[in-house]
Amino acid sequence: MKAPKTHAIYNPEYECMSRDAMTALQTERLRQVVRHEYDHVPIYRARMDAKGVRPEDIRTLDDLRHLPFTEKTDLRDQFPFGLFAVPKKDIVRIQGSSGTTGKPIVAGYTQHDVDVWAEMAARALTAAGCTAEDIVQVSYGYGLFTGGLGLHQGASLIGAMTVPMSSGNTQRQIMMLKELGATMLCCTPSYAIYIGETAREMGLDPHTDLKLKAGCFGAEPWTEEMRMRLEQLLDFDACDIYGLTEIAGPGVSFECLEKNGMHVNEDHVIPEIIDPVTEEPLPYGSSGELVFTTITKQGMPMLRYRTHDICRLDASPCACGRTTVRMGRITGRTDDMLIIRGVNVFPSQIESVLVSVKGAAPHYLLVVDREHSTDSLEVQVEIDESGFSDTVADLEHIRNEIKDKIKSVVGISAKITLVNPHTIPRSEGKAKRVIDKRKLV
Ligand code: AMP
Ligand code: ZN
Repeated sequence: MKAPKTHAIYNPEYECMSRDAMTALQTERLRQVVRHEYDHVPIYRARMDAKGVRPEDIRTLDDLRHLPFTEKTDLRDQFPFGLFAVPKKDIVRIQGSSGTTGKPIVAGYTQHDVDVWAEMAARALTAAGCTAEDIVQVSYGYGLFTGGLGLHQGASLIGAMTVPMSSGNTQRQIMMLKELGATMLCCTPSYAIYIGETAREMGLDPHTDLKLKAGCFGAEPWTEEMRMRLEQLLDFDACDIYGLTEIAGPGVSFECLEKNGMHVNEDHVIPEIIDPVTEEPLPYGSSGELVFTTITKQGMPMLRYRTHDICRLDASPCACGRTTVRMGRITGRTDDMLIIRGVNVFPSQIESVLVSVKGAAPHYLLVVDREHSTDSLEVQVEIDESGFSDTVADLEHIRNEIKDKIKSVVGISAKITLVNPHTIPRSEGKAKRVIDKRKLV
C-alpha cells in the first residue's frame, strides 16, 4: 500500500547544494581526477597528449569538452586491469557486465569507491521512502551484476532490514515478501511485473496480503505506461533507478517520489548530453547521448564515458528540495535503435503503445527480419487473461488497435501476433525484447 509521500533526503548537504557550490565542488574534483588519470592510466595520458590537452588546461566545467571520450570498447581492450588508476592491491571489489555482445567488461572498486556507491544507493532508497524501519527485499541478481549488491549495500547503510533474495524462484520470492512483510522491493521492472502477476495467480491480494509501499526498479529501459501497470499490480510506488557497471551500479541517478526524472548524484559524477554523431555537447533539455565523468572514483575513474543511453537532462527545481539535475527516462540506446525500412524505431515506443492497449499484457517480443530484401517487424504480444477469454472479434479489435497505434506513433506497419498468456519467456533479470534476425545472417 502506498505510504504518504515523503521528501526525506539522505545527505542534504550535497543533494541540496546551491548550484554555485556544486559547480565549485565539481570543478575542483574534476581537476583532481583528470590529473590522477593522466598520471596513472597510460591510455588517458596517450589520448590527452594526442589531443594536445594537459591536465592544467582543465580549469572550468566547460573545459570538459576538451577531454577525450571513453567507450565500452576501451574497457574490453583494456580488460581486465588496464584502466585501473590505483595498484591492484587497493582494489577490493570487481563488478562486471556481459553487455549485449557477450564480451565481458569489469570495473574495479577501492573501499572508498564501494562506500561512495553504497551512499548513492542509500540516497536512492531514501528518495523512494526507505528508512531504518523498512524491510527491503532485493530481488536483483547478486554477483558480478551490480544490481543485487548495489541495493543491498544501500539498504544496509540506511539500517533497513535487508533481504538478499537475488533473482529467481519467483514463488519463493513471493512467500518471503508475504511472510517477512517486506515494505520495499528492488529488482528489474520486468521482473517486478512477473512477481506481481505470479502473486495474483497465487491468489494473493497485494493490498491486503503484502505490505509493499515502494520500490526502486531499473537496469533496463521501461516506460511510464509500464510504471502504471506495475503500481496497479503491486499497489505501491515504483521509482526508477539508473546505473551502469562502468560508472557505479544502481544509484548513479534515481527518482524521488515526485517521479519526474532521476536525480543525478552530481557530487560524484558529471553528466553531459552530446549529439551522438557530431559528439558536440548539447544544452539541457535536448535529447541526446548521456556521457558521464566520474569525479570521486579512485579505482577506475572514467573520463567522458559514452553510455549510448539516450535521454534529456532537466535542471528545473524539484518539489522534493533536491537541487541536482534530473535525467529523463532512458528512451533508448543509440545501439538498440532499430532501423526498419529506413525508420528509426525504439523498442520503448512500441512498449508505450502495447501497455496502453486494454487486453494486451506487458509481455512482448519484437522480431525484425528481412523478407525479399524488405525489413519486416513482427510484434508478438501476449493477451492478458481478460483478453484471452474474449471473442474472436475482440481479439481482432485488440490486434487492429495495436497495429494502428504503432503506425501512428512509430510510422511503420507491423505484423501483430497475439499469443497466449505465459508464452513469451519471462525474465528474472533484464528482459530480452528484441530479436533482430537481420544481424544473424
Ligand atoms: P549494466 O552495466 O550491465 O548494469 O548495464 C547498464 C545499462 O543498463 C545502462 O547503460 C542502461 O542502458 C541500462 N539501464 C540501467 N538502468 C536503467 C534505467 N533505469 N532505465 C533504462 N535503462 C537502464
Ligand atoms: Zn525530486
